[in-house]
Order: sequence, then C-alpha cells, then structure tokens
Amino acid sequence: MSPQDRYPVARPCLSDLEERYLVDAYRSGWISSQGPYLQRFEEQFAARCGAAAAVATGNGTVALHLALAAAGIGPGDEVIVPALTYVATANAVVYCGARPVFVDVSPESWCIDVEQVAASVGPRTRAVIAVDLYGHPADYSALRALCERHGLLLVSDAAESFGALLDGRPTGDLADVTTFSFFGNKVITAGEGGCVTTSDLALAERMRLLRNQGMDPRRRYYFPVVGFNYRLTNLASALLCAQLERADDIISRRDAVIATYERELTDPPLLTSQPVVAGVRRAPWMASFLVGPPGSTGQRDELARSLDLLGVETRPFFVPLTDLPPYADATGELPVTADLSRRGINLPTYADLTDVDLKVIVDRVRTALAGVTGRR
Ligand SMILES: *Cc1c(COP(=O)(O)O)cnc(C)c1O
Repeated sequence: MSPQDRYPVARPCLSDLEERYLVDAYRSGWISSQGPYLQRFEEQFAARCGAAAAVATGNGTVALHLALAAAGIGPGDEVIVPALTYVATANAVVYCGARPVFVDVSPESWCIDVEQVAASVGPRTRAVIAVDLYGHPADYSALRALCERHGLLLVSDAAESFGALLDGRPTGDLADVTTFSFFGNKVITAGEGGCVTTSDLALAERMRLLRNQGMDPRRRYYFPVVGFNYRLTNLASALLCAQLERADDIISRRDAVIATYERELTDPPLLTSQPVVAGVRRAPWMASFLVGPPGSTGQRDELARSLDLLGVETRPFFVPLTDLPPYADATGELPVTADLSRRGINLPTYADLTDVDLKVIVDRVRTALAGVTGRR
C-alpha cells in the first residue's frame, strides 16, 4: 500500500459483508422501515449493550429527542448537560420545550463534572444527559447515585462511545436510557442511523409508539398521541448488522491507530493525549490530543493549518455550546470546557489506515509540530 496525498479525519470501514447484506435487503424488497434486518439489528444491539431493549432510529439526534420525549420531558423542565459536546445534545432538550442547563466538564475525563451537576440541581431539574466525550464514558456510578437521590432521569449520550466499557460493563447499560449515533464518522455506521437502549420496557414501548408517528400498535391509523417519524430503514439496518458482526475487528484496529499516535506523538506540553480514568476502556472514536500547555491559545489552530497543507485533515474540539448564539444567554464560568475547546484536536482515525499510512501521518504531524510557535 502506498501512502496517500490526503488523509481524511474519518472514513467508514465497509467490507463485502456489508455489500452482501445490503444487496440482500434490496433484492428482498424490504427497503423501508420494516424487515428482518431491522429486527435482527435491534435484538443483537441490545444484547451487545447488555440492555433489555433497543429502539433503532433515523439518526442519533432524534434518538436523544425520542428518549427525552418518551420520558415526558417538556416545557418548564430543566435538563443538565455538559457545555462541551456536539450541539445535538442540547438541541434535543430544546425540541422538548425544556431548557438545557450547562455545566463544565472534568479535566480528568473531559466528561460532565458530577460536582457541578450536584450544584446545578434545582426545583425544575428533571434529567441529566451525560455525554461520553471522544469515546470516554462519564462517571456513571456517581451520576446514578446523584440522580437517584434527586429523582432525576439519567440519559447517556453514547453517540461517540459504542464499544466502551466502564468497570467491565458496556455503554448502553450504564444509565436509565442510552442513545447512539451511526453517522458516517462513528465507530460503526450506516451513513445515518441511531438507536436508543434501555432496560425499562415501558419506556421502550413508549419510544416505539412515538417513533412510529404515535400510531396505536393494535389499531392501524389510529393515533392516540402526537408522535414522530423517527424510523430507521431495513437497508440501513442491513449495513448495521454487518458492522455489528465486524465491530470487534473494527474496534481493535481503531485502538491500534490511536495507540500508535499516542506512542509516537505524545510529547507534553506540546502534545498531550486524552486522559483515561481507571476502570475505563475507552471507545476508539477519534484520536484526541491537546496542543500546548494549559491556557495556551493559537497553537492548535497553527498545527491544524500546517497539517492541512501537508495533507492531513484534523478536527478542532467542539465549540462550547454557551458560545453558540442559541445558548449564549447561559451564565457562569466554564473554564475547563473553554480550555479544552481551544486546545483540542482530533487526528485521522479509521480502521482502513495501514501501518504505512500511520507512519506517513506521524511523520507529517512531527513536521508540523516542529514549526508550531515556541518550538525550534
Ligand atoms: C454524533 C453525535 C450525536 C448524534 O448525531 P447524528 O448525526 O444525529 O447521528 C449526538 N451527540 C453526540 C455527542 C455526537 O457526537
């Protein structure tokens, strides 16, 4: 394999198996939102996640909305979310007519800071959404205890953490309800797709009702409630069945990619790797590093620009949600979120990167780092 001119930051890993299942679904005529692959995917995904039920959805954003809506989150309610996440986490709260309350993340895990959650619980608080940022599970044992104490729903946004374990238990079974995304850059993908897992069977049934426009499962075209069309197709499910069968191989190759970067490139304070808490087996979503010492600004963008010129695509960390116009009225200091957002960078992470590719990327990153200000 020869090196490439340009490396994207993400790429799906698709084999003959995906093609075979996809063509099979296509030829069967079951291309819409019913069919054997859909049923099989939901069963196998629930089993893999250690949950009693899985409800597949059109994407990860509507998975979040479906979970919150089914749990009865609505106008007047507040939902605590971390400020450092993909915008969908907060948008799903707004879709319910509820208000997101933003808290900072912990420097040890980059996930929601449990003490700050405790300090933000008020009379209107109904739920907490923990996000497994860059594949690292949040502190679910502390969050579960806190949520039980206050009677709050604990939602896990595990869009980035399929394959992660916390004390040996997979994401999907660590909160009251867990959502996943199968967008093209996620660990397993169908291009677009999502899923909710839960062991609360009543909640799962409510989600199935709302996913299918609210139609009474025993009386066709009778709609007792206002629901949504949040269904996943059997075609997408065929891809996901194949991805699920290959998940362990995909995960171990992605693990090796990240391990190579961490071995070859970690060079504090210029480049520090993602911290991993004891008991956590992180999902290898995207290799994540911090550029420069705490509080530094500009070096990450400088590195990203040079890497772009050298043909290595990168991603900056998420912008703090409180810096976005729809959420800018939030108050309070979020220093960890602000610092990580300014210094964080993701490097190309996908299973089809060969050892030769990795060597090329590592060399290019070293070249780019040598030029970053302050380094001669
Ligand atoms: C990818 C992602 C989602 C959902 O994304 P979709 O594109 O709607 O599938 C939600 N939350 C987080 C943290 C994500 O990374």
